Amino acid sequence: MIIDKRKKIGGFRTVKTAIEHIRLNGLFFFLALISALGADKPIESATRFGPIEFTVLINGESNRRLVLLHGDEKTAEKALKQHIVRYKGTAFLIRNHERLFHINGLRLDPNRIFTNDGTRNTLHKYHPEVPHQDREKIVEELNMERESFMEKLSPPSGGIMIALHNNSQGYSIDSEIDNATRYSIKPDQDRRDFFLCTDRKDYEILARSPFNALLQLNGVTKYNGSLSEAMGRKSQRYVNVEVRLGRLRQQKKMLEYLEAHLP
Ligand SMILES: [Zn+2]
Repeated sequence: MIIDKRKKIGGFRTVKTAIEHIRLNGLFFFLALISALGADKPIESATRFGPIEFTVLINGESNRRLVLLHGDEKTAEKALKQHIVRYKGTAFLIRNHERLFHINGLRLDPNRIFTNDGTRNTLHKYHPEVPHQDREKIVEELNMERESFMEKLSPPSGGIMIALHNNSQGYSIDSEIDNATRYSIKPDQDRRDFFLCTDRKDYEILARSPFNALLQLNGVTKYNGSLSEAMGRKSQRYVNVEVRLGRLRQQKKMLEYLEAHLP
C-alpha cells in the first residue's frame, strides 16, 4: 500500500497550494477593497470665480459644502480631501499654492473678494502704487462673476458652508473675541484651534463639543469681504474650522465632530 505522505492542510494537498490559495484570495480581497474605495471616490470637476480656478470634488448629495480658499494651507487641503472621500457633500479647493492669488500681475487675498469693498481693500493693501483704474478693473471683473460663483458654491437651502483654514502666525480664538457674540474656550485645547460659526443653533452644539467655539452673529461683525461676511449677509449657516498648520489629526477630528453633530 502506498501512503501519500503529503498531508492535507485545510483541504489543500500541499503547503505550497495553501500558500498559493492565500495569495490569490489576498489579491482578490485587495482588488475588492480597491474597487470599493474607488466606488466612493469623489467625482472631480472644475469651476471658476473670474480668473480664479477651483477643483470641485463631489461625493453624492448632502447639505454640506466645504471650501479651501488659501492655497498654502496644506493641512486644511489634506483634511478636506480625506474628509470628502468618507463623507457626502461637495468640496471646492482653490488651484493655487500661495495664500495670495495673482490676477493681472496683482496679488489679492482670496478670502477678501466676496464684496466689492473687500476686493478694493485687499488690492490696495498689496498694491497701493498701482493706478486706481487698474485695481478697479479687477474689482469689476470679480463683481460680474460673483453671483454665478456663489450660486455654485453655496449649499442648498438650510445647508451649511464649511471653510477650512490653517494659522501659523499668532492668529487664535483670542483674535476674534472682540467680534464675538459668545465663545467657549476649553482649557485643554490649543487656542489656535477653534470653530467660528455664524448660526446660534450651530454654536450651541459646537460649544458643547470638546473643542473651542466662537459665535459671530450673521453679518453684524466684520465687513472685510470674507466668505463668512457673504454667508452672514445671506443668513446662511457658516462654520470655519480653524486649526494650527500641521495639525491634521485635530482638523480631521473637528470635521468629524461637525459631521456627526450638526444637522
Ligand atoms: Zn486661510
